[in-house]
Amino acid sequence: MPDYSTRITLANQRALITGASRGLGAEIASVFADAGADLVITGRDAAGLEATRQVVAKKGRRCLSIEADLRTVEGPRLAGERALEFLGTVDILVNNAGVVFVENLLESSLAHWEETQNVNLRAPFLLAQTVVPKMIAQRRGKLINISSLAGVLAPEGHGAYSASKAGLNLLTQAMAAEWARYNIQANAVAPTVILTAMGRQVWGDPLKGDPMKARIPSRRFGEPVEVADLVLFLASPASDFICGQVIRMDGGLSSC
Ligand code: NAP
Repeated sequence: MPDYSTRITLANQRALITGASRGLGAEIASVFADAGADLVITGRDAAGLEATRQVVAKKGRRCLSIEADLRTVEGPRLAGERALEFLGTVDILVNNAGVVFVENLLESSLAHWEETQNVNLRAPFLLAQTVVPKMIAQRRGKLINISSLAGVLAPEGHGAYSASKAGLNLLTQAMAAEWARYNIQANAVAPTVILTAMGRQVWGDPLKGDPMKARIPSRRFGEPVEVADLVLFLASPASDFICGQVIRMDGGLSSC
């Protein structure tokens, strides 16, 4: 009987997780701490970051929180550099932070378009540029980009968001193509609605949410821990031959 605890583990691993002040990022931080990783977490909301940091610290792992605005060029670069200083290296980068403005393309302001592209697509690129050289030097690394089913399909009112996540999916493939030779695996996770602040903001009204649930073969939305479990697998040695994939997590929605 194989001992899976030696395969799906993050013992001695050091991870940088963006957008960990709430939602999926906070859940991923908690699950990563359970699996044995030391962490750097980022966001803008100091109170939310501190709450996540305390959860991780209670599990006995080291954790530094960094306030960084990923709309800027400097934010991701400085966050990456400070993570390298604190952890020594970043073995796992989880590009989780994201924003959505639900509006049709003709209503979308340039400011919303730019914020969406900069947080969802440019920041993962800039963070990877900062931490991947050390991954290459150590011949080991994991990049997990939190995309969306809206990066594969184009739900109404999500045009800027869909464009950013579709870009993130191809960026993931480009990362895999360039860096797999150094034993670095880049993959993306593409969930449908997950019950976080963002999920509730967009789909919380039953008048909108119930018809959406009815279209999902599993007849429900996802839970944050279900995404975190997949991210854990993609961060662990158990997934070392999975590379360049965009894994849909949608209760079957895109199958029918
Ligand atoms: P959330 O609850 O709204 O959390 C978003 C996180 O991103 C927060 O920690 C927020 O931190 C951070 N963030 C946003 N703008 C930022 C900025 N300018 N600088 C730094 N951090 C920023 O959303 P979530 O549901 O957990 O979403 C996490 C990821 O999953 C996103 O990439 C999202 O697109 C993706 N996703 C979510 C769903 C869903 O239904 N929930 C479905 C598919 C994909 P601060 O506010 O502290 O800055």
